[in-house]
Amino acid sequence: MAGAITGHAETLACQVALDAAGRGDLAGAALDTTAETCFICGYAIPELRVGLVVCGKDAPIIEAVTSAHPVLTDPALDGWRLAPAVIGGELREECEGLKRKPGA
Ligand SMILES: [Zn+2]
Repeated sequence: MAGAITGHAETLACQVALDAAGRGDLAGAALDTTAETCFICGYAIPELRVGLVVCGKDAPIIEAVTSAHPVLTDPALDGWRLAPAVIGGELREECEGLKRKPGA
């Protein structure tokens, strides 16, 4: 399902964690990701009550923290669940060194 709109790495990881935990949310969980989450994942992460997101590299065009539309952290989004804490730039050089494989 790589590349599918429903196949985002962070949402897939959250689903695996939900299945493993046998719970309906991820309260208290931390999510580590090589690149800043996108808008789609930026909605799912607080909805699932993830408490901490650790990102490697920024991707400021469509991403959910450093772009012009920070859906993951924007407190003005009334009705959304509480935003997680976010740590950016963790292992930035290593994450920027990773290249997307063709077709992935
Ligand atoms: Zn995503």
